[in-house]
Amino acid sequence: MKMEIAIIAHDGKKADMVQFLNKNKHILDRDTINIIATGTTGGKAESVGIKVKKMLSGPQGGDAQIAARVAEGKTKMVLFFKDPLSSHPHESDVNMLIRVCDVHNVPLATNEATAQLLLNAIAQQS
Ligand code: PGA
Repeated sequence: MKMEIAIIAHDGKKADMVQFLNKNKHILDRDTINIIATGTTGGKAESVGIKVKKMLSGPQGGDAQIAARVAEGKTKMVLFFKDPLSSHPHESDVNMLIRVCDVHNVPLATNEATAQLLLNAIAQQS
């Protein structure tokens, strides 16, 4: 069965996310992995050649859609490059996503260093 991984990056972290995706393309390209993303982040991922299923943009409810997939047991890991230095209109959705990951014990990285450790763990598994 494929593992669904969600990627999300706030605007201030999108450049870092693109760099991270490029660096980890060899892992993310595996056919055992399905990537989903909030809308704008997904567009950036596509621009570096990563196949991704796009949800709505974060402020339009994309984080909430990903949270629903976590709750349903579809999304098994969330890599979220949060920008702690700016405020976001959809802060409540972001907090909801974090809570739902904790409720369902789904690995959630909220910064790049943790995201890298999680992907390294996947790379070692298969
Ligand atoms: P975006 O959403 O990828 O559509 O910009 C991310 C977010 O702000 O949650």
